[in-house]
Amino acid sequence: MDIEKRSLSDFEREHYHRNIQVQEIGEAGQLKLLRSRVLVIGAGGLGSPALYYLAVSGIGAIGIADGDKVEITNLQRQILHGVEDVGRAKTLSAEETLKKVRPDLDLRLYPVRLNEENADAVISMYDFVIEATDNFESKFLINDSCVRTGRAFSHAGILGMFGQTLTVLPGKSPCYRCVFQRPPQPGKVRTTAEAGVLGSVPGVLGPIQATEAIKYILGMDGLLTSRLLTFNAANLTFREVKLPSDKRCGVCEET
Ligand SMILES: [Zn+2]
Repeated sequence: MDIEKRSLSDFEREHYHRNIQVQEIGEAGQLKLLRSRVLVIGAGGLGSPALYYLAVSGIGAIGIADGDKVEITNLQRQILHGVEDVGRAKTLSAEETLKKVRPDLDLRLYPVRLNEENADAVISMYDFVIEATDNFESKFLINDSCVRTGRAFSHAGILGMFGQTLTVLPGKSPCYRCVFQRPPQPGKVRTTAEAGVLGSVPGVLGPIQATEAIKYILGMDGLLTSRLLTFNAANLTFREVKLPSDKRCGVCEET
């Protein structure tokens, strides 16, 4: 079905009633969600809760890009997958779980790691992108592709008991590269695999990313742009770092 021609069925009016009751959404907003496309890159710690909430909120089409297979060490945080999924492609495991909560969901699976060759083609098919990867190479690649293709996206990163997130509107707000310039030298910054992560930390950040996608599709103001939100679970603090909006990185200048 062409999701752009979707209308609200009686079942959907009931299914999404609690959304529709929200002043900022209503029936018109719910239709926007059902007619929208969101891409989630990474079906891991951040991607799992983000995908859950995008699906149950009524996003019409969701793409999932992840080239990895489920490993036993993933399961303390990657809540889309279970013990029986170990060894399976994460995209297939995610599909099976999400279809239980949204049988009508238009799901598109990309069981590959996005790279310079395929990123622009995949990303440009979506209204909003959630960057939920665990490595700097992918984060910069996705940022640059989203800026080139003009796609709004949400970045998030997690480590230990810490997380951070930022929403980027290309051409309108600072991008990930404006803030972090370039990937750190290998070995300089520890990864999740090296330093670990508290399983519930991506459970705080991933739903924030889904919320930003939903707000963007609804056309709401108040997105997490021009400010980096950091979360420290150890002392339970959220902090905001204001980002200068006049500074432009090389990728932003080209657009
Ligand atoms: Zn930039």
